[in-house]
Amino acid sequence: MKNVVLAIDIGGTNVKAGLVDRSGEISNVIYQPSKADEGRDALLSVLEDVIKKQCSKADVAAIGCGSPGAIDHKNGLVRYMQAHIPNYTGTPLAKYLSDFSGGIPAAIDNDVNLIALGENWKGAGKGSKCQISIALGTGLGGGVVVDGKLFRGAKGRAPEFGHTVAVPGGEPCTCGNFGCYEVYTAPGAITRRAKHYLASGIISALSECEKITAKEIVHYGNLGDHLCSKILDDATKYLAMLIWNLAQTFDPDVFVMGGGLMKAGEKFLGRLNNELDRFYCPDELDPMFSIKISELGDDAGILGAGKLAWDWLDGTDR
Ligand SMILES: [Zn+2]
Repeated sequence: MKNVVLAIDIGGTNVKAGLVDRSGEISNVIYQPSKADEGRDALLSVLEDVIKKQCSKADVAAIGCGSPGAIDHKNGLVRYMQAHIPNYTGTPLAKYLSDFSGGIPAAIDNDVNLIALGENWKGAGKGSKCQISIALGTGLGGGVVVDGKLFRGAKGRAPEFGHTVAVPGGEPCTCGNFGCYEVYTAPGAITRRAKHYLASGIISALSECEKITAKEIVHYGNLGDHLCSKILDDATKYLAMLIWNLAQTFDPDVFVMGGGLMKAGEKFLGRLNNELDRFYCPDELDPMFSIKISELGDDAGILGAGKLAWDWLDGTDR
């Protein structure tokens, strides 16, 4: 009986890979530069190397892998990827992973979906009936897990909460549209907003910073800096709107929040809860849901990929 699966998390900077047993125990974690910016072939050669290394350490039952992009889980295909990984669109990734391993079955899914699944299996979403994950990183990613199973939509690309519209005709988004929630809430996007306003001559303590990230924006926003306060107010306002809209749509019992802004501190969560308090909720429905911070951090993606591999092997998620 093979008792581990190989879990892989493809990130913009690193490929992380580890062995995961049925109880969720992770071992033999390795990191390798993903070379994703060099394109599909460079990334595939890194994956081949990682798989060969890991499969030499144990008798691997299956492979689970989280990847950025719109992923067709059922067919093991990368349906669409923006320019971040050149030539990646259309890659039959699951087949490559299986071939690199000499024929071990492989399943793939969107990286944020697997973060949600990992938190559902072993983290802040454990035991929930309907969990919504929101990952605030470079962009705003989402995941929905109902009764322990991912909700993927008809073609596998759901849910893209970050690219639902907050402001019709608003500020431009990297997806090609305007006014997406991501633009006003994701750390990567609010950092771009801050730089844009600074370049237009608005006075802010940020102009003294060597590097501007969401951390600096939260820090100076909490100190009352005019520009940072405005950007943070927007971020909390739009994030609260998104959470409220999703709560009305899905009736979740828990939101699991992860990523940069959450790491930036409890104060942001306080602001968010204050903003959510503006929405009316009848006493009979209160509390409608809870908001939890990710418990697994960087391990969530690996655990989700491990769970995906086990479920794929067991035939419970194909
Ligand atoms: Zn967008």
